[in-house]
Amino acid sequence: MELWQDMLRQSVDSSRDLVERFGFNKDLSERLNHLFHIRINPYYLSLIRYPGDPIWLQCIPDAKELDEDGLPEDPLAEDAHSPVPSIVHRYPDRVLFLTTSQCSMYCRFCTRKRKVGDSSKINMKYIQDGIDYVAAHPEVRDVIMSGGDPLMLTDFMLEKILSGLRAIPHVEIIRLGTKMPCVLPQRITPKLVKMLRKYHPLYINTHFNHPWECTMEAKRACELIADAGIPLGNQAVLMKGVNDDPDVMLELMRKLLTMRVRPYYLYQADITKGANHFRTPVSVGLDIMDKLRGHTSGLAIPHFVIDAPGGGGKIPLLPQYVLGRNGNQIILRNYKYDIYTYPDVEESPKIPTPTVERRFTRKKKRTTPAYAPDEAGV
Ligand SMILES: *Cc1c(COP(=O)(O)O)cnc(C)c1O
Ligand code: SF4
Repeated sequence: MELWQDMLRQSVDSSRDLVERFGFNKDLSERLNHLFHIRINPYYLSLIRYPGDPIWLQCIPDAKELDEDGLPEDPLAEDAHSPVPSIVHRYPDRVLFLTTSQCSMYCRFCTRKRKVGDSSKINMKYIQDGIDYVAAHPEVRDVIMSGGDPLMLTDFMLEKILSGLRAIPHVEIIRLGTKMPCVLPQRITPKLVKMLRKYHPLYINTHFNHPWECTMEAKRACELIADAGIPLGNQAVLMKGVNDDPDVMLELMRKLLTMRVRPYYLYQADITKGANHFRTPVSVGLDIMDKLRGHTSGLAIPHFVIDAPGGGGKIPLLPQYVLGRNGNQIILRNYKYDIYTYPDVEESPKIPTPTVERRFTRKKKRTTPAYAPDEAGV
C-alpha cells in the first residue's frame, strides 16, 4: 500500500470520530454523517489551528447543513446535461468526465454531494461509456477528468483511462481536476507524474481555498507536477468565514504563484442544499477582484465566475471599470479610481463578409456598444 492510501485509511470518517474527537453530541453527528460523508485525512486535519478556523469550516460538518433550506441538490442541472452518467456535456467542445465518486476529503460546501461518496453512482461500465461517448463525438476536443477526485484512482486505473482517451484522435487536450495537491499532497509521487507526462498535452486544475493550505508538502507536490511539464491552475470557491476577505485572497493568490500554480477561477459558492451558510453577497467577490487587479501581478488574478443556476455555464463578473460614454469618449477608471477618457474609434462602414466567415461575425449590429456600462451591473 502506498503512503497516501495508508493516510486515507487513517481518516476521520465516522460519526463516532466526531463525538470522540470534536465533542459533537451523538444524535447530531449521526444525522450529519447520514447527510453527507465525512472524510478528513491526518494531513489535512493537521492544518486546523483552532475550532471554526478556515480549514475546520471546509472539512468538519456543521449543524447548519441540516437546515431545511429548500435548495436544490443539483443546482447546475448537471444531471440534465448527462448523456451518459459519467459525462456532463454542457459546452460545445468539451466535457466533464466523472471517473470516480471518491474524494480524498469531503468538502462541506461540495456542489456534487448527490454524487460523490456514493460508489454505486460510478463503476467500470460508466467509465467505458464515457470513453465511448467521447469517441463518438468528434466535437469534443477537451476532456476534463473530474469526480469525485480522479487521483483517488490507482495509477494503473488512471493510466487505463488516459490511454483510452489519448487513443481518440479528436481529443486535443486532457485536463485533470484534483484537490490532491491541497488536501493530500502525498498522492503526488514521482511515479504518478512520470506516468501522467506520457499523455501530454495534459493540464491540472487544483483547488486551494486558503493560504494555510500552501504548505511545504503542497509546494513539493505542485513542483513535481510542474516539473513534468503539466501547467497547473487553481479553482477556488469564495466562502464566508474561509476566504471572503481581500487580504486573505491576495495572500492565497500570491502564494499559489510561488508554488507555480496559476489562479484560474474564483467561484461564487453554488446554491446547494446544505451549503447555504457558505454563501457571500456577490459584492464581496467583486470587491475582492477590485482589490486584486492592479494591486498585484496580473498573473495572480483569477476570473470571478458564477456558475449559472439551472445549468447556463460559468458567467464572468467584473467590477465596473467603464463609468460612461460621452459621444466618442469612453470614461474609464483605473485600479486607483483615477478617471481616464479614451477616444474610441468610429466603427468603419460594413464591408460585405464572405459566407464562410459568417459564424465569426455578429449576426446583427449591436444596439448597445459592447463596452457600455452594464445597467444590471452589481
Ligand atoms: C467548468 C466546466 C467546464 C470547463 O469550463 P472551462 O471554462 O473551459 O474551464 C466544462 N464543462 C462543465 C460542465 C463545467 O462545469
Ligand atoms: S473534492 Fe470536489 S467533488 Fe470532492 S467533496 Fe470536495 S468539492 Fe466535492
